[in-house]
Amino acid sequence: MQAQNAPRVSWIFPGASAAPNPSKLAGSEESDPGYVEVRKIGEISANKISSASGSGSRRCEMSPEEFAKFYPPLLDWIQTTLTASAHVAQTIASRGFSRLPLYFTEKTLASTKVVLVDPLPMPPLSSLGLMRFAEFERGNFDGITYIDTIFLKPTRSNNENIYFHELVHVIQWRLLGPDRFLLSYANGLECFGYRQSPLEAMAYDAETSFASSTTSFNVEKMVAEKLGL
Ligand SMILES: [Zn+2]
Repeated sequence: MQAQNAPRVSWIFPGASAAPNPSKLAGSEESDPGYVEVRKIGEISANKISSASGSGSRRCEMSPEEFAKFYPPLLDWIQTTLTASAHVAQTIASRGFSRLPLYFTEKTLASTKVVLVDPLPMPPLSSLGLMRFAEFERGNFDGITYIDTIFLKPTRSNNENIYFHELVHVIQWRLLGPDRFLLSYANGLECFGYRQSPLEAMAYDAETSFASSTTSFNVEKMVAEKLGL
């Protein structure tokens, strides 16, 4: 996701199910108020949602129970949104950018789509009961990615840097799968804020490299390595 005049977002919640939490095991979750565990992005892969037990290990993380409640309707909303816009979606390959093919595979550029639209479709997080994400929901972004489709403001339709950034999120979605992507994104947003959330920081750092140097690199490999996959 890309914030307008500010950073861009995507959704990752670093693991709902972190490694065993001593305080939780001891039944003293409340004993570490305010402590935010800084996890490396690479640990996301180890945090299998299915292996989560008990409630969230940190106050900034969503509990597996809460995630299980909001994930199905959110995924439904995403799928409905993608279906509704399918008729106006174009492939990234069809946009004819010259540098993207040096960083992403032909297959990725042919399978990823872009929808130019304003306003961008934002997930109904508060109506799903996730009031703490209301600010995010109201955020002014230039772009946002759902699974394999990038939604962009028409005014940004020729900005290759933004496509690059959102394509990093496409790779994240693909490698993590929708469940781990959404959980990691939500937890990252809650624990670190939009710009410093692990999945966004990864996209912004890569975008900076893309914008400031012509030395190409394999983004798909880079994302996999940073996710520890
Ligand atoms: Zn982003």
